[in-house]
Order: sequence, then structure tokens, then C-alpha cells
Amino acid sequence: MRQQTTGIHHVTAFVRGAQATVDFYSGVLGLRLVKKTINFDAPEVYHLYFGNDAGSPGTIITFFPWAHSRQGRIGGGQVGITSYVVPLGSLDFWKARFTKMNIPITLTTRFGEELVQLADPDGLRIEIVERDEGPASQWTFGGVPVDKAIKGFGGAVLFSTAPARTATTLEQVLGLEKIAQEGDFVRFKATGDLGNIIDVNVEPMAPGVGGAGTVHHIAWRAQDDEDHARWRNLVLESGFQPTPLIDRQYFNALYFREEGGILFEIATDPPGFARDEPAETMGEKLMLPEWFENQRAQIEEGLPPIQVRILEADQQ
Ligand code: ZN
Repeated sequence: MRQQTTGIHHVTAFVRGAQATVDFYSGVLGLRLVKKTINFDAPEVYHLYFGNDAGSPGTIITFFPWAHSRQGRIGGGQVGITSYVVPLGSLDFWKARFTKMNIPITLTTRFGEELVQLADPDGLRIEIVERDEGPASQWTFGGVPVDKAIKGFGGAVLFSTAPARTATTLEQVLGLEKIAQEGDFVRFKATGDLGNIIDVNVEPMAPGVGGAGTVHHIAWRAQDDEDHARWRNLVLESGFQPTPLIDRQYFNALYFREEGGILFEIATDPPGFARDEPAETMGEKLMLPEWFENQRAQIEEGLPPIQVRILEADQQ
């Protein structure tokens, strides 16, 4: 059977401010901080995961906030824009919310859909689109009622240095289907109902520079470990050099760089974020993998304090 991903598993980006990131993704966007852990390769840096109530694949954006990181530049070889999907009829709510919070927005359209575009505090490009498909999030926080809550990713806009090659990889490796072309973008669709709409630039784009305010990689969904092994074979047979399968605690991962310069990961849906703490209280406690537990006091001391808090604009 042909391998087809259902869509995005997660997106990982670099930022500077830990609290600023929590305030934006939880305080402004109303997402749940579903996991507070550390960069396993650099325990002085947080790894923060935001998503829907359950931390479902297709809703997860993750960050390594590091105050000293250099500013990156968005460009070719990166995810240029991360798209979030909200329920039909809720775009006006979001426009009003960003305006109330003094966050500049740009209104635009792509493939006939109205988009609200904005940047996070480090300059990551975000957009909001309304669509009927995709399960509603059950999470509500601050001024975001549950019926307006972000469902998860609508998809992403890939900025490729070699778009024709990126398109071939999306179609022939990941199993996406090309569904439209309009202006500067080609649109691809994965089989799932979240994180399933991927747009790619038509003209090659000059390479960006990695750093704060840029996406590091985009991960695609694998069903389970068996499926993951099949994905690795397919990536290898397609001429790429995938990493070995890596245990990331909440999923297993493999990485490869596609020919347009973008770092792709394939990540398993299981075991998920309730693996090491109860689903009800996920994200509240700093979670460490076993091999770091004996250094907990030291690690906690080295991390800046962060708090999920209701922003002032929502308290009035
Ligand atoms: Zn990842």
C-alpha cells in the first residue's frame, strides 16, 4: 500500500523569550501548554509544547526558548508561515482579539480563503484561517471561548529554495496530492483533517538564516512504530539520508533534509504527552526524562521561571 501521511505532527521553532512565548501561544492564542520539559541535548534550555486540550498530533508547536540566540531570517529552506485553523465564523473574533491586544495584523487571501496574518514576539509568521474540517478543541483559556478556540494547524506554507523538488518529495514520498495552483503558490493536501493543507512557493526563494523567529523543522505524522519503519525505508529508497529512529519521549522521530532545504521529520502519533503525567495536569510540572531526574534541582535553578497567565487585556 502507498505510504501517505495524514499531515503535520508538529512544528518546532526557535525563540528568545520563554515567558513571551508562553504569553503569546497560551495568553493570546489560547493554546494549552501541554508539556514543559527541557532540550535533552541542552538541559539549560526549555522545550515547550503547545497544542489543543489533548495535545493531539496536528496541533503541536514546540519551542526552544534561548535568550542568547541570534535572530534568524525567514527565507528559503524553512517553513515560512505556520497556519492555524479556527471554526467557521470565528475569524472576526480573532481579528478583534488581535486588535484589542495591539498585535498588528494583515488581511490577505490565498486560494480563495481569507487569512489573518501576524507575527509572534520573535517574528515567527503565523496565520489564522477558518475551515469546517478538523475536530474542535475542547480547551478554553483567558479570553478565548471554546467555540472560537484554535483547532490546531490548518497547515503550513513552505518556503523552498527548489520548489519543484520539494513538490516531488511532498507527492512521491509523503503521499500528498496537488490540488491547486494560484499565483505564487501550489497547494497540496494530505489525507487527514488537521495540518493537512500545505502551500509551496512556485519561484525558488533565497535561503533564510536559522535562529530566533524561524521554524527549525516540520514533522509529519506516522501512525505507529511499524508505520514509522516503513517510512524510514521509503525515505531511504527515495534517495535521502534519514537519521536512525530516535526516541523523543512523546513520539519517535526520524529526520531528513528535503532538496528545497527544509528539515523534515517523521514522528509517530504514540505514545503522546500523557505518557509521563496525567492528561488533566499536563504541562504544569517540569517533566524530565529519567536520566536527568537526579539533576532536577540544578536544572530547575538554571531555567527562567515561566507562568501560564491570563493577559491584562483579558482581565478588563
Ligand atoms: Zn520535531
